[in-house]
Amino acid sequence: MKRLRMLYSGMSNCIFCKIIAGEIPSKKIYEDDEIFAFHDINPAAPVHFLVIPKKHIENVMELEPEDTMLAGRLLHKAQELACEQGLQEKGGRFVINAKSHGGQTVDHLHLHVLGGRALGWPPG
Ligand code: AMP
Ligand code: ZN
Repeated sequence: MKRLRMLYSGMSNCIFCKIIAGEIPSKKIYEDDEIFAFHDINPAAPVHFLVIPKKHIENVMELEPEDTMLAGRLLHKAQELACEQGLQEKGGRFVINAKSHGGQTVDHLHLHVLGGRALGWPPG
C-alpha cells in the first residue's frame, strides 16, 4: 500500500508528496483527486497557503502540454481558496518560485497564495 501511494504521488523523498500521502502532517485547506492545498508552515503574511498538484511535477519549467488542464485548475482553485480565506476584496499575491534563481526550496510545483497585508514589489 505504501509503495502504491509512493508510485501514485511521485518521488518517495519529496516532502510535499509525503504531505499529500498523509505521512507528514499539514494544516489542510482543500483536497480533491488532483489538487491539495495547505497552510505554509512559515507564513510570510497573515494569509499564506500553498496549492499543489498531487502529480509530482518538480517545478513550472517541467510542465508539459498534457498538464495544461491541471495548471489551469491549480490557478483557479487558488483563486477560489483565496476568496474563502478573505482575500476577495483586497487581493494578494499568487507566486510560483522556480529553481535556484527563483528561490525554490521544495522541488514539487507549488503555488503560493499570500495576502492579508500590503505586499512589497519588486521582490529582492
Ligand atoms: P519555495 O521557497 O517557493 O520552494 O517555497 C517552499 C515553501 O514551503 C516555503 O514557504 C516553506 O515555508 C513551505 N514549507 C516547507 N515545508 C513545509 C511543511 N512541512 N508544511 C507546510 N509548508 C512547508
Ligand atoms: Zn513531490
